[in-house]
Amino acid sequence: MPRVYNWQIGRQMDYRFETGTQKRQFAAVFNINRCIACQTCTMACKSTWTFSPGQELMWWNNVETKPFGGYPHHWDTKLLALQEAADPGGQVWDAKAPNRAAPYGTFAGKTIFETADGVEKQATGYLPAEDEWKSPNLFEDTATRFSPSGVSLPEHSGWFFYLQRICNHCTFPACVAACPRNAAYKREEDGIVLIDQERCRGYRKCVEACPYKKAMYRPTTRTSEKCIGCYPRVEGTDPLTEGIPMETRCMTACIGKIRLQGLVNVEPDGQWTEDRQNPLYYLVHVEKVALPLYPQFGTQPNVYYIPPRWVPRDYLRQLHEPFSRAARRAPALPRHSENHLLLPHRAGAEGCGIHHRRPEAGNLQRHRPRLRQQGKRNRSHHRQRTVLRAPRAVRDEHHLAGSRHASPQTRSRRTARR
Ligand code: SF4
Ligand code: SF4
Repeated sequence: MPRVYNWQIGRQMDYRFETGTQKRQFAAVFNINRCIACQTCTMACKSTWTFSPGQELMWWNNVETKPFGGYPHHWDTKLLALQEAADPGGQVWDAKAPNRAAPYGTFAGKTIFETADGVEKQATGYLPAEDEWKSPNLFEDTATRFSPSGVSLPEHSGWFFYLQRICNHCTFPACVAACPRNAAYKREEDGIVLIDQERCRGYRKCVEACPYKKAMYRPTTRTSEKCIGCYPRVEGTDPLTEGIPMETRCMTACIGKIRLQGLVNVEPDGQWTEDRQNPLYYLVHVEKVALPLYPQFGTQPNVYYIPPRWVPRDYLRQLHEPFSRAARRAPALPRHSENHLLLPHRAGAEGCGIHHRRPEAGNLQRHRPRLRQQGKRNRSHHRQRTVLRAPRAVRDEHHLAGSRHASPQTRSRRTARR
């Protein structure tokens, strides 16, 4: 099996394909601390892409309450248990001094690709039962325990938090490795992972292999589907954006402003090109406050999380094993990092105004003229969002094509062939 370099685990690993890196990669940072679980992101995605028959249980974006919640149920603990059974005691990190090639140190255990036999299975995984997809928000707002005396930082005795989940558009996607028909593929131009609906035969190998369970089966078409990274918006071909690249629906709609999305440049060796002005690079590689979710699985996920401050460190280490090193380096979330997260890159050098910190209540009078000016800018900002909200024309175009297979995922591959 070819060897590829995975910088998140700090070493080479087995992967089905030789190439796994692009020149540019779709990436995102989510600040867990700010999420209020309003599910606006979930509904923005649902109402845009998965509102058709057969997609009722399909939530490309979901927000689950940890530690008990999960969609599908217990997806993460089941996978961790499978890995532990395949490589007993091996899920440990070598804490040697981090460097640019291995910023989190080295993972000493086996990835999901290395615990599979590489013949029958390309990646260790499991197929969730139908019931496990049925209640995406099971255990919503369920805390570990009630604390009658109250809680305080840094670690709460009773706790829960919200985990926002989309497809990670992994650098080494398990869904792509597992697909026997090569229907799942990764785009060269931005690293978005799609499933070609014309090639897919619904074997569900991708559903089984994806450790994050973000590939899903649609019974009405008998094919698998997954998050498409709103690629018409990302590439600027959505007719309503007039050729201007936009963030995805879930990022744009987020009420808590927890999400930051963009493209990062990637070097031939798979490392991100150094660019401290790119907020994604800054949060992931400079401040190291944004961490990948379960990097030990080996897919090199491209969604990063700023961990919740109040959660016991042991649990955070389970979620983001590099947490211990990152926490040592940046014990408290620096204010300027938060500001970076709050400034969408499309807002221009001055920002869009609405994300700036509001003055203290006592100073409101003094700041009133500036606030009025901000208010005007905010209103025009929101008008623009409203106009751009529903890329219905994209869907109409598919319907006009007259084929149920002419889905956005297939359309992307057709365009690429041309
Ligand atoms: S999260 Fe799952 S579905 Fe998405 S690219 Fe990675 S392996 Fe594939
Ligand atoms: S829209 Fe934003 S704040 Fe609301 S649930 Fe989604 S990620 Fe959290």
